[in-house]
Amino acid sequence: DVLNTKGSEFEDFFLKRELLRGIYEKGFEKPSPIQEESIPIALQGRDILARAKNGTGKTAAFCIPTLERVDPSKPDIQALLLVPTRELALQTSQVCRELGKFLNLEVMVTFGGMPLKDDIMRLYNTVHVVVATPGRILDLANKGVAKMHNCKILGMDEADKLLSQEFQPVIEQLIGLLPADRQIMLFSATFPVTVKQFKDKFLRKPYIVNLMSELTLKGISQFYAFVEERQKVHCLNTLFSKLQINQSIIFCNSVNRVELLAKKITELGYSCFYIHAKMLQNHRNRVFHDFRSGRCRNLVCSDLFTRGIDVQAVNVVINFDFPKNSETYLHRVGRSGRFGHLGLAINLITYDDRMNLFRIEQELSTEIKPIPSVIEKALY
Ligand code: ADP
Ligand code: MG
Repeated sequence: DVLNTKGSEFEDFFLKRELLRGIYEKGFEKPSPIQEESIPIALQGRDILARAKNGTGKTAAFCIPTLERVDPSKPDIQALLLVPTRELALQTSQVCRELGKFLNLEVMVTFGGMPLKDDIMRLYNTVHVVVATPGRILDLANKGVAKMHNCKILGMDEADKLLSQEFQPVIEQLIGLLPADRQIMLFSATFPVTVKQFKDKFLRKPYIVNLMSELTLKGISQFYAFVEERQKVHCLNTLFSKLQINQSIIFCNSVNRVELLAKKITELGYSCFYIHAKMLQNHRNRVFHDFRSGRCRNLVCSDLFTRGIDVQAVNVVINFDFPKNSETYLHRVGRSGRFGHLGLAINLITYDDRMNLFRIEQELSTEIKPIPSVIEKALY
């Protein structure tokens, strides 16, 4: 269940008494899983990238640490909580005010479409936390009315939306106004590639919480085999002969290796296509179409192919090259076991991949087991 926790209590976070009181008064009894995972980390001031299903309490997951870390005795704006829509700005500011009811903090909400004059007046007085849509707060900051130089906390809700083309330039300008020792917290239910790029550019050693993974990997049996680089093709050949493959996807880490491997598989006598980012689009479309229609059994590809692709006949995914991060792993392996079908994921692990294997296993809180000599067909 998405709401199963490890049993933490709000007391475990050593929050100010006034904040704890606000939390209980709001009717929260125990932290939800995303709160349990993110609050202790966010309280340390660490950057955080958190993903969890809708309705699992993400708002409080970033509001609680924000409220704790803001010092009411300092008159500056110390936290900016960005959201993509006006309605969400209102709602989020409401949650902040309720949770922070006993803290003596000023929470201001601002978004486009309301008179700028009122906001300017408001900012003559003390404001500790601003909840805003990006354009309006940038406007106020550029006018010198909202002073961001002591705003050390930036929370972004619906982060993928905030990082879409529409908002991203504004967000980047805003970040430029924050002090160097800022903390950034990204929350969302979906993390497209734009978020990854942003993460790589602006987040510092972010802690990644992904509470979607267990669900996504459900029904997929994951195994690894330790191999040397030069044994990989031989190992793949053995897998092909032993497994009952409906359709398979085989991942490599570079375009060159995709082409080379596809050639070797064909030489071994198996039907095989390949697809990678440097191919022309209409060629890619044709290969994909042929694979989808079942005309080809095995597809070798690069990470181009990892997102959103849904070919239900795929029951085996092989990481010929092991990915570097858990997000890529999740997206690759999630290509099998779609819609409740079972699936099998096999990872070829070289000496250099070991640490990655353990880290990814941990980050996704999943289990990747040593490959047994026989894999029961019932598993996939
Ligand atoms: P999300 O942003 O993940 O979609 P919300 O932050 O909007 O979810 O929270 C969904 C609902 O759950 C809200 O009504 C909120 O008040 C409630 N909620 C959040 N955390 C808790 C908790 N720890 N205990 C009880 N209810 C909670
Ligand atoms: Mg939300």
